[in-house]
Amino acid sequence: MEIACLDLEGVLIPEIWIAFAEKTGIEALKRTTRDEPDYDVLMRYRLDILEQNGLGLNEIQEVIATLSPLDGAIDFVDWLRERFQVVILSDTFYEFAQPLMRQLGFPILLCHKLEVDSNGKVTDYKLRQANPKRQAVVGFKSMYYRTIAAGDSYNDTTMLAEADAGILFHAPQNVIDEFPQFPAVHDFEALKKEFIKASNRNLSL
Ligand SMILES: [Mg+2]
Repeated sequence: MEIACLDLEGVLIPEIWIAFAEKTGIEALKRTTRDEPDYDVLMRYRLDILEQNGLGLNEIQEVIATLSPLDGAIDFVDWLRERFQVVILSDTFYEFAQPLMRQLGFPILLCHKLEVDSNGKVTDYKLRQANPKRQAVVGFKSMYYRTIAAGDSYNDTTMLAEADAGILFHAPQNVIDEFPQFPAVHDFEALKKEFIKASNRNLSL
């Protein structure tokens, strides 16, 4: 059997922090790893802003529950699950992803965790492990699973390289140019075809 490893944000759902910033009107939360490459500095900054705005996990989940997967994502995941074992490898947090994962039918999700106190205040966060997406693929390979991975951004490229086949989906042009070894597609129909091409079984659309 083969495992399909999918990035979450930008592939199946909107970028959560960006969408959350738009819904709440808190412009400062639009800062991303492109503006602040040190993830720890960025997360501390985000947690400070949540606190200053009196936003705890309940308020955050209420906003996230109003978000939807990207157009076609639900059908794509259903299609993929009939043909592969599907695992989502993400740098989001379980507590954020939960409402959106419900809409996707709760596929396996490996991501990070928030620490929340009894008042709902987000006090800290725990990364699952260093280089988590790549390490998950290494783990599947150690169990002799063949892996095919798809993602949209820099934080996916080590996963794509480690997998038996890697596919860029919805990637910006600079990522496509920098990683020409991966096929790059921009819609779910083309992504299905890339998965079929990368599979070592005789699959059909
Ligand atoms: Mg992404």
